[in-house]
Amino acid sequence: MKKLDDIMPCPFCGGESEMDTDGPDNYALFIECTQCGTELGHTDGKEDKLIEAWNTRWTPND
Ligand SMILES: [Zn+2]
Repeated sequence: MKKLDDIMPCPFCGGESEMDTDGPDNYALFIECTQCGTELGHTDGKEDKLIEAWNTRWTPND
């Protein structure tokens, strides 16, 4: 597991978020809130797209 400065805190509870991988060859990449367990997954293995998706949850109407 690793924590990236780019990942914003959880949009729901403000808790700490961390990126992790799952599955064979770390195929499934996801960000999870360590407090409330909210999860956002991405399956193409692109960290930057996953981080962007997580971060943009903050401004859905932007
Ligand atoms: Zn949370």
